Amino acid sequence: MTGTLRFPSLRSWVRHLDAAGYLACANPGVSLEHALAAIASRLDGGKAVLFPSPGGHDMPVVSGVVGRREWIADAVGVSQTGLLDRFMDASNNPLPNAEVTNAPVHAEVTTDVDLTRLLPVPTHAEKDSGPYISAGLLIARNPVTGAQNVSINRLQVSGPDRLGVLILPRHAHHYLTPVEARGEDFPVAIVIGVDPLTLLASQAIAPLDQDELEIAGALHGRPLEVVRCTTSDLRVPAHAEIVLEGRVLAGVREPEGPFGEFPKYYGARTDKHVIQIDAVTMRRNPLYHTILGGGLEHLLLGSIPREATILAHLRRTFTSVLDVHLSLGGVGRYHLYVKIAKRQRGEAKNIIMGAFSAHYDVKHVTVVDDDVDVHDPEMVEWALATRFQADRDLIVVPNAQGSKLDPSNDDGFGAKMGMDATKPLGADPFTYLKTRIPGEDEVDLDAALAAERPPISALDED
Ligand code: MN
Repeated sequence: MTGTLRFPSLRSWVRHLDAAGYLACANPGVSLEHALAAIASRLDGGKAVLFPSPGGHDMPVVSGVVGRREWIADAVGVSQTGLLDRFMDASNNPLPNAEVTNAPVHAEVTTDVDLTRLLPVPTHAEKDSGPYISAGLLIARNPVTGAQNVSINRLQVSGPDRLGVLILPRHAHHYLTPVEARGEDFPVAIVIGVDPLTLLASQAIAPLDQDELEIAGALHGRPLEVVRCTTSDLRVPAHAEIVLEGRVLAGVREPEGPFGEFPKYYGARTDKHVIQIDAVTMRRNPLYHTILGGGLEHLLLGSIPREATILAHLRRTFTSVLDVHLSLGGVGRYHLYVKIAKRQRGEAKNIIMGAFSAHYDVKHVTVVDDDVDVHDPEMVEWALATRFQADRDLIVVPNAQGSKLDPSNDDGFGAKMGMDATKPLGADPFTYLKTRIPGEDEVDLDAALAAERPPISALDED
């Protein structure tokens, strides 16, 4: 069935990275406590890293598999400029999953659950409370409609068969709350090690009851193969490496955290939900995936699906919007750059207000003209430096909803700022004429430069 998929699994994608020269391999036996994360972090955005037998485990670990925007575009099979449109198209045209009964991820099934013995779970940041499963896709199900949801939640290994989990008030939380109120446990599955398109689709800003796995299917161009869990009705990707089957325990809260999060600060230790693991299923020779908190893999998985949603949201009202980018310095969520072909006075300010409403994480919006590359933060800064006047072009909205992980606001309550860095319409064209050197772009450096410096008196004589 999956013979025609380019990358049906994590392992097929890692093989591709290896063939392209984008996979480093660590020495065997790297310690799971900080040492693995330290090596992965040093190579962040340069190469993905494979760790054979980390901490003496048989199972290898891989990290950084989608640590570059161009790798994600490659996995999707488009150019970087086509990435957001392709993702939006998949979000708008999901493909129902294809259920199979024979799945690679069911090659090994155990109900004798001891997570630290079974899995090489690393400890990443200095103040993390301990080992965390950071690349687990949490599958939950609407008990009324049967629709599934996918989200990546941080999972603290709290005991041999016990995970502490942060479940923010989004879709899984919405499904869980009424079930827990009846005093019933809530079935979940945690999927570790999936293909890059499923990983990306899991972060789609999709409506309630839209199964993100169906968006993954659309990105693949054919339905995603799923299999029923061995202990619940949940359906999980058949070609995943590892699945933990379990239940969120009704009425139980235990300490979870701290954990180094995407803004490169720690999420606090407080009482959170607890997941009891009942069974673990795996492929033969499974591959464990870990994501560094705040690393490029983490930031890009957050930013690209958000960019696609924000771009579609703005285009519904503003035909002048050409492109958007959530900068990496803005942790892939807080700083939005918008490129427009400005036609109306004041348009940039309307777009800023529209962008604030596109996602509550958006904190600072900068609007630039179509001669500025929004993927180049230095160019955006140049536009701000030369086209923006704070008394005329700045919007500040106090007391708005923001990200709870931004330490500078009051638990998610704070300010928004918009900066219109576009040229005034009708300005003297020469005033804003960007300097250029004729022929610069056409220079063939191989032809223009001498292989060896000739004798030059000014350099060769004192
Ligand atoms: Mn969802």
